[in-house]
Amino acid sequence: AAAQTTNFLRNIIDAELANGKFAQRGWAGQPGEGSLHDAAAPDPARIRTRFPPEPNGYLHVGHAKSICLNFGLARDYGGVCHMRFDDTNPEKEDQEYVDSILDAIKWLGFSWDANGTHHQYQASDYFDFMYHAAELLIERGMAYIDQQTADEMRANRGTLTEAGKNSPWRDRPVEENLRLFREMKDGKHAEGSMILRAKIDMGSPNINLRDPAIYRIRFAEHHNTGNKWCIYPMYTFAHPIEDALERITHSICTLEFEDQRPFYDWLLGQLRDAGMFSEPLPRQIEFARLNLTYVITSKRKLMQLVNEKHVEGWDDPRMPTIVGLRRRGYTPEAIQLFCERIGVSKGDSWIDYSILEGALRDDLDEKAPRGMAVLDPLKLKLTNWNALFGTGHTEPCSAPVHPHHEAMGVREFNLTPEVWIEREDFQEVPEKGFRRLFPENMARLKYGYVIKCTGCEKDADGNVTVVLAEIVPNTKSGTPGADSVKVKGVITWVSASEGAPAEIRLYDRLFTEAQPDAGGRNFLDVINPNAKRVIQTWIEPGLTNATAGTSFQFERHGYFVADRKDHGQSGKLVFNRTTTLKDSWGK
Ligand code: ATP
Ligand code: MG
Ligand code: MG
Repeated sequence: AAAQTTNFLRNIIDAELANGKFAQRGWAGQPGEGSLHDAAAPDPARIRTRFPPEPNGYLHVGHAKSICLNFGLARDYGGVCHMRFDDTNPEKEDQEYVDSILDAIKWLGFSWDANGTHHQYQASDYFDFMYHAAELLIERGMAYIDQQTADEMRANRGTLTEAGKNSPWRDRPVEENLRLFREMKDGKHAEGSMILRAKIDMGSPNINLRDPAIYRIRFAEHHNTGNKWCIYPMYTFAHPIEDALERITHSICTLEFEDQRPFYDWLLGQLRDAGMFSEPLPRQIEFARLNLTYVITSKRKLMQLVNEKHVEGWDDPRMPTIVGLRRRGYTPEAIQLFCERIGVSKGDSWIDYSILEGALRDDLDEKAPRGMAVLDPLKLKLTNWNALFGTGHTEPCSAPVHPHHEAMGVREFNLTPEVWIEREDFQEVPEKGFRRLFPENMARLKYGYVIKCTGCEKDADGNVTVVLAEIVPNTKSGTPGADSVKVKGVITWVSASEGAPAEIRLYDRLFTEAQPDAGGRNFLDVINPNAKRVIQTWIEPGLTNATAGTSFQFERHGYFVADRKDHGQSGKLVFNRTTTLKDSWGK
């Protein structure tokens, strides 16, 4: 396993393991009521965590933090991380999302294959069990059917400074509650006509304990259970039960659930006292969600970007989704490294996007094969070519695939009488300090010869169309004469006759503000219109063999990836700029 930054969660787990908290872990659920484990068998896993997305959208970089955390803890402590779909909400869920979530987790390098089964947990598999738990609460006098209207319930909930008011239905007899709840289940009552609430304390300073709703009527088909149910549990009721059923030890969630923890503990305590679960019960622990500058991490808002066509889909390389990052050229290793570097804490903060890019550069610098590409092409003619080499000659050149890893091999390409260079590498009248091509100056064509600029050609508007230069004989890189002439400028180039045209998509941050949705700002108002720019370029001939999804460093320009979707389609070569070589953020 990779080196781990310590975090407060590891300290908690270390202490619990040291005092034997989990030594006696068994499961007290009743067989046939959604039991997952043999109650008598001790749990072979030292700890259990879970990653519980709702399958209602694509995962984003914030989820990656949660994935690295939960799967990483399980990996490092000899535990298991459950892949669980929190699919208690029948309306918004879809198989497309389920598939993409599983793909994203595998791609990130994690597996939920604890014992060769690749078991996926689904909250909806426990609906019977949850229903039973609700009846137990009713029987214990801890839940009641409320028939107030939604407006009345809202009005009676009170405020932060004012206690709530008891519902007139709060003291219904147990028998009547049970009868009505069963009628709800049997479809005898209309949506919104009644609701099951926990009976806790309308005067609690924590509004979440003011008799929270736990079951509601919804005549909706569910992707797993079909039309079996017309009542569905609320998330806050379902989640603790899911955790306890699966013998989760650490239920790690984001800080906004801190106020829910008392209800989590209340509910599991009730069900323990009713004999349904036994100690040690799962423990909810909150951590700070990832906020990344220039990025939005809300599924709803990302969905809006897609649906309103501000981007070209969930996997648009400008998107912070896992599929978007992947298409942009991010690697799983870079994302894991990023998550390690930012660590886990209890305090909300903003992480600078440059930390994500830094992790990416650190990963790609060691791995990515090198190549040359000219992004803003200007023709250069070598006017003494025929005199020096004869007509039709091409001059073989070579370069390392990676400057530090000889084993990665050597690239071969030819120097030819006409090459493409970057427009910015020529200045007819050089500014102070300019070291590349200007009349009478010498510079090196990288991996080739020193050349001496002799002038340029222009069109009718005075734009430079061709740069003219002469090869300085006996100065080829890698030959004894290479150092005979000293030059200060080195220029990247691509042969005009042997290089290949390629489309390059230059991506930039999607928003012009570091906190696009902060302080009530509409994030749609700060979309960066220049976040995608498409240019026509020339690339080194060997790069035409690139397979889709492969990353390269284009020397001096940055990291690029052959687009997973469009590269190689109808003969077109398409690369995405993943990031520049140096940090260009925040400046
Ligand atoms: P969103 O608010 O974007 O819809 P969510 O929290 O509702 O996200 P879920 O599918 O419920 O999405 O999330 C699955 C898990 O990922 C949860 O445990 C949640 O805590 C975690 N998670 C979601 N967003 C972030 C984030 N920005 N940083 C860290 N963890 C996150
Ligand atoms: Mg959620
Ligand atoms: Mg959320």
